[in-house]
Amino acid sequence: MIAAVGPIAAAPPKPIEELRRTVSASRLNTWLSCRLKFYFRYVLGLKKPKTAALYVGNAVHGILKLWNKARWHRKPFTLETARQQFDTLWVADQIKEPVRWDDGEEPGEKATAWSLLDLYLKQSPIPPNELPEGVEVSVEADLANHGLPRLIGILDLVRAGGRIVDFKTVGQTPNEEKAIHSNEVQLTGYAILYRANTGKIEGGRDLHQLVKTKTPKLIITQQGPMTPPQEARLFRQMESYVSGLDRQDFVPSPGMQCAMCSYFNECRRWS
Ligand code: SF4
Repeated sequence: MIAAVGPIAAAPPKPIEELRRTVSASRLNTWLSCRLKFYFRYVLGLKKPKTAALYVGNAVHGILKLWNKARWHRKPFTLETARQQFDTLWVADQIKEPVRWDDGEEPGEKATAWSLLDLYLKQSPIPPNELPEGVEVSVEADLANHGLPRLIGILDLVRAGGRIVDFKTVGQTPNEEKAIHSNEVQLTGYAILYRANTGKIEGGRDLHQLVKTKTPKLIITQQGPMTPPQEARLFRQMESYVSGLDRQDFVPSPGMQCAMCSYFNECRRWS
């Protein structure tokens, strides 16, 4: 149970029932990493400025979305177009949502974001004339026959042959097995969504990871279609989500993730 959290007690009504009806991979990941963080973010709806790392990730994602959409609509999208759009969006997105920059940090972060895009657009394994099956498709899967909430999500890119691609910006060169493990909820969820909406089995699930090292790197991690044990693991995690919401089990999970948590101050007031 939540008690004595100071100023945040005057929060809007808790939409527990609504959160129970649907779940996305990112919401489930937050739940699994820390239920108190989930409470602050989704139950109380406490908004926090974006971190620099999140802003860089969103900026890269935004341009890759335009690049994928251009191929989908058979329109040209040159490196120059990408640069112009990047410069425009970098300013515009900060007006919509503030960013928590440290002093003097922004120019370096902007240069990093562009260097990742420049690398990807020059070295992507996706041919410029490859027509995607789908780009930024918003999809749902009804899992009521498993006693679970409706799974919702947005597929970044589905390549020809049903290869699901998810783009990531990461701070360190990823280890293949750990990358698959730490993105398991998302990649399994995408497979369920793809199957529910196409009636087909996905061709594979790929992580295209842009690494923010001094010299940027592109690391591609490939996985085959979802296996029955992967599906079972996700269903058990979703069951834990549902039963935890029913109990309103919003306890903190202190650990490594707290260093990056925007709710640290609120968390310290929890008892
Ligand atoms: S500081 Fe750590 S324990 Fe507290 S809400 Fe954030 S992630 Fe959870």
